[in-house]
Amino acid sequence: MDESKRQFILNRMKGMQKDVEDGRRTRTEQAAAQAPVRKQPRFEELAEYKQVVMQQLAGRHLGMENPFYRAHEGASGATAQIGGRSFDNFASYDYLGLNHHPKVLARAAEALQTFGVSASASRVVAGERTIHTVLEEKIADVYDAQAAVCFVSGYLTNVAAISSLVGPKDLVIHDEFIHNSALAGIRLSGATRRFFKHNDTADLDRVLKTLAGDYERILVIVEGVYSMDGDIADLPALIRLKEQYGFWLMVDEAHSLGVLGETGRGVFEHFGIAAGEVDIWMGTLSKTSCSCGGYIAGSEALITLLKAQAGGFVYSVGLAPALAAAAIASLEILKAEPERTHQLRRNSHLFLELARERGLDTGLSQGYSVVPVLVADSLRAVQLSNELHADGINVLPIIHPAVPEGLARLRFFITSAHTEEQIARAVDRTAVILGRLKQENFGLASFDAGQLMALFAKS
Ligand code: PMP
Repeated sequence: MDESKRQFILNRMKGMQKDVEDGRRTRTEQAAAQAPVRKQPRFEELAEYKQVVMQQLAGRHLGMENPFYRAHEGASGATAQIGGRSFDNFASYDYLGLNHHPKVLARAAEALQTFGVSASASRVVAGERTIHTVLEEKIADVYDAQAAVCFVSGYLTNVAAISSLVGPKDLVIHDEFIHNSALAGIRLSGATRRFFKHNDTADLDRVLKTLAGDYERILVIVEGVYSMDGDIADLPALIRLKEQYGFWLMVDEAHSLGVLGETGRGVFEHFGIAAGEVDIWMGTLSKTSCSCGGYIAGSEALITLLKAQAGGFVYSVGLAPALAAAAIASLEILKAEPERTHQLRRNSHLFLELARERGLDTGLSQGYSVVPVLVADSLRAVQLSNELHADGINVLPIIHPAVPEGLARLRFFITSAHTEEQIARAVDRTAVILGRLKQENFGLASFDAGQLMALFAKS
């Protein structure tokens, strides 16, 4: 083909291509012009946002201070500094009073000097530090387990572990009061989710009877001490069901490590059961271990699998070395000084006993680390918390959606460092103020919803 013919054909082809592109562009432009403009809501328009604002307005309307997000000005344990004032503090998880312990502080400071602030990478790729192994061996030791792995948050631990162990062909059955982090993990896994009535193993048996045959893997999740109610999972009955049906049992020990058992090793020690009866031990480093992070302990295979597959481990930075060091020091103190656990138990039992004597409704609490005082009405719970705050007692209300409507409460975290006087005063003031609020019928009933709606419409 001579050059002029070749040029001619090339030019024609270019021309045809341009026609096609122009046509395509025009059709896209036309389609865009015809399609109704999609309206993405602004965040201010979201129903969820309006609900939050509504709650804030309700408080303001009643002249109530917002008890949430009050900033503490120092290390909080049995006492806290807020707004330049000292409070008896029942709102921190520092169960064994270690947040300010010289050994914990020194070990964290030493790790800071040695390793710097950050692990600076995922542990898989350059973020592994010698201190991680030390911590994981200590955690495995608590549970007589072959291995353990830690994550950068307790919440993330549940999300990452659950979502990597079960999938769409599997079934997860959990106690109805299980923590939000476990629920998030189950949702992410795509597994079928069923719950059983709180701490009711007969109900769990019923669910298993109906569904066990339909799934490949079955995971049952409970908490050692329940975070909102302070009662204890019926581990012996769960183990019996496990033998009968064959499922993996996962126990979240966030509120039971350092709390239950003669030496604070948790719910298995409390019941005198071998730790190996439970397949997956989960816990957080933010409570007794006085740091930040979470862990799973169990068989070598389980931990190897999580270290290879759990997104929240593989694709997230390694635990900060200073936090690992603080947790190691806390676990060493837990082991060396079981009297802290005993003191915590005496304090919690004392709180429960005094509260019951004063007619306070402590719900299901068995007097270990968490003692709620049920108030029912959310506004009354907020007011009670605020009035206690004015009296120098810091305890936070738990209201909907953290608990079902009608089950609002104050949640008291008891620590080994509280004094009898602090406990007695907190119970006394709670009983007196709540008694008065009840007499005044203070709460949602005395609250003009119409007026609030008008306020909301103006905002
Ligand atoms: N599990 C339970 C039972 C909890 O109460 C919490 C929160 N305190 C978590 C997991 C999450 O732990 P963290 O706050 O350490 O992320």
